[in-house]
Amino acid sequence: MLSSTATYLITGASRGLGLEFVRQLLDGGATVIATCRSPSKASQLTELRRSGPGIKNLSIVQLDVTNDDSIATAVKSVSASQSRGIDVLIHNAGVNLLEDDGKLLKSSRESLLASLNTNTVSPVIVTQKFLPLLEKTPSPGNKLIMMMSSNLGFLSESFGVVQSYGVSKAALNKVVVEMALELQPKGIPIVSIHPGWVATDMGSLYGKPPLQPKESIAGILKVISKPSSKLSGNFFAYDGAQLPW
Ligand code: NDP
Repeated sequence: MLSSTATYLITGASRGLGLEFVRQLLDGGATVIATCRSPSKASQLTELRRSGPGIKNLSIVQLDVTNDDSIATAVKSVSASQSRGIDVLIHNAGVNLLEDDGKLLKSSRESLLASLNTNTVSPVIVTQKFLPLLEKTPSPGNKLIMMMSSNLGFLSESFGVVQSYGVSKAALNKVVVEMALELQPKGIPIVSIHPGWVATDMGSLYGKPPLQPKESIAGILKVISKPSSKLSGNFFAYDGAQLPW
């Protein structure tokens, strides 16, 4: 069971679902390292640092998940400030590029590579670099890596839109299956989560989403509250339903 005082590191916390993770985790008493690529532009996040509840438990760290120098500097900074390590790593940062009209037959190399770079490759590299901090925490049963995936990555179903994004999330799910095996001896579960269709900048690109960030993130925090080998290597929705690949 994740303790309410665990230390969480979140990528892409400037807005949307990442920002809502920060809000709800601070409300619950956790220590939060909120990372974002441009802290000076992340006004909602920096406002939380000024006035929100639990501000003493919040640190903001610059992290562009596609930039190796930025990752190295962030690891250094978090290592210096969190001497006991981190318990939970939430890979939330993601992009959904609309440049290819949602069609693979129209997708450019640049668009395909950009989706894969942010949504698939970066979570792998960021995990590699932060792993020593997860291994360091003296709390067996209290560690977790979470990948923010999407039902648009289903192999068994096509929604006919945003294929380069869907391809990158399907590949991310494969990362979860493979990494679960590699992480098993270290006692660190990894899980893939679909947050639902949520009203954020990204979610609102295609119409009016039925879910608000508050409900999605409250559901996800419940799903991941008991990290276990049963959770590891699997794909769940924010409401706890286990999803097919
Ligand atoms: P938003 O577009 O609202 O927010 C995306 C976040 O990712 C921003 O904080 C953005 O930072 C950050 N980000 C993008 N690229 C990078 C980068 N290179 N380095 C660091 N941060 C980066 O999206 P959502 O909040 O809706 O999405 C969050 C996650 O949930 C994504 O992985 C998305 O794929 C997934 N998801 C969302 C769904 C929805 O309906 N909303 C449905 C299914 C999955 P910046 O402010 O600097 O641009």
